[in-house]
Amino acid sequence: SDARTPLMAGNWKMNLNHLEAIAHTQKLAFALTDKDYDAVEVAVLTPFTDLRSVQTLVDGDKLRIKYGSQDISAHDSGAYTGEISGPMLAKLKCSYAVIGHSERRQYHGENEEIVNAKVKAAFRNGVVPILCVGEGLDVRKAGDQVSYTLAQLDGALEGVPAADVEKIVVAYEPVWAIGTGEVATPEDAQEVCGAIRVRLAELYSQDVADKVRVLYGGSVKASNAAGIMAQPDVDGALIGGASLDADEFVKIVRYRD
Ligand code: PEP
Repeated sequence: SDARTPLMAGNWKMNLNHLEAIAHTQKLAFALTDKDYDAVEVAVLTPFTDLRSVQTLVDGDKLRIKYGSQDISAHDSGAYTGEISGPMLAKLKCSYAVIGHSERRQYHGENEEIVNAKVKAAFRNGVVPILCVGEGLDVRKAGDQVSYTLAQLDGALEGVPAADVEKIVVAYEPVWAIGTGEVATPEDAQEVCGAIRVRLAELYSQDVADKVRVLYGGSVKASNAAGIMAQPDVDGALIGGASLDADEFVKIVRYRD
C-alpha cells in the first residue's frame, strides 16, 4: 500500500568486521541518493561489533541509512554473559533488532516464548523488532505454511499492545528459501504476507494491520525484487546474501527502475 514506506533491510549475518562494515556502508552512502531514500527506507542489520562503527559514520555524515542488530537480549541488564541488551542498542541509536531469525531458531533453540520476550524487550527500549516468521520445507510440502506461520506470529505477539504492534516489522521468511537460491514466487509471498495482515487485523484492528510493514525474505536479488514488491501485502524485503554486494543491494533498493 502507498501508506507504508517500503523497507529494504540488509541482513549481513556473521559477515564483515568493523573495518569492512565502514567500507561497505560508505559504498552504500556514496551510491544512494535522496531520491532513493525518499522512496524506500534503507537499513543494514549488522553484527554487534559493527554497530558503533556504523553509528559513527551515519551520525558524522548525517546519512539517511538506518541500522540495527540481528538479535537482542530478553533482559535489560544483569548476569547474562555474552548477551547484548536493549538499552545498549538504544544507546547506539539502533532503529531495529532482528528477532527470531530462522538461524537463531534452528541453532540457538529460540522458541516462541523467547521470541516473545525479545519482542517486548525491543519495544521497552524503543527499538523496533523485525520479527522473522516462516515455515520449513516439510511444512510447505504439507501445505500448512499459513497456519504454521500465523501460529509463530500469535506466539511472538502474546501480550504486546496495539500501540507497539503498529510499529513492528514482520518478515515472512520461508526457511527453504533462505540462502538456498530458491526464491518463493511472488504469489507464494503474497499468500502468507496477506494472511499475516489479516491476522493482525483479527488480533488488533484493521488500522493496526494497515500500518505494519510485512517484508518478504529468502534469496531476494535485483532480478526478482520487482516481482515480489508488486504484491499488495509485501512492503519490502529482508536481504541476506545479496546485501553483502553493495551494487546489488543498491539495485534492489531501486527495484522500481
Ligand atoms: C536472511 O538471512 O534473512 C535471508 C533472507 O537470506 P538470503 O537473502 O541470503 O536468502
